[in-house]
Amino acid sequence: MTEVTPTTSYRDAAVTLWGDAGAYAHDAYQRWLPLFPELPSELPIVIGITAYGHCVGLTRSAWEHGPRITIASNHFKHGRYAVDDTMVHEMTHAWLYLTGQEGKHDSEAWYAAIRRLSPVVLGHEIDVRRGSQRRSVRLQGCRRDQPRTQRAGSRA
Ligand SMILES: [Zn+2]
Repeated sequence: MTEVTPTTSYRDAAVTLWGDAGAYAHDAYQRWLPLFPELPSELPIVIGITAYGHCVGLTRSAWEHGPRITIASNHFKHGRYAVDDTMVHEMTHAWLYLTGQEGKHDSEAWYAAIRRLSPVVLGHEIDVRRGSQRRSVRLQGCRRDQPRTQRAGSRA
């Protein structure tokens, strides 16, 4: 396989492909990056159709170039905060993968990450445990046009 030397940033490529949405996705990644110090300064972020149709975001970790985040293009109609929520969720998957941890929603590592992140992202702790009723960290009643961070009164 021929090694490819990048001639542009992933952000620049995303702006070329998806305009403001591409810029926003990468800027969201940058805003939340301090929560995930092991993640690279950029990851490939695709805006398009996710593999399972109903997913708003997806992180593929078996890609040969490392994790790649996909945000469903129709998810942008729900507003910037929905995109930010999804970005944090997908960055959690990527972070777990790159730190050698199990990235599935029902893994002990996933729940530990959510307990670590919730005070900063939500502004309060949530005591999620594996085996509890909650499958993911999505909050019931979370309005897509209102950030969890704004409701909690803080922002990372
Ligand atoms: Zn997920």
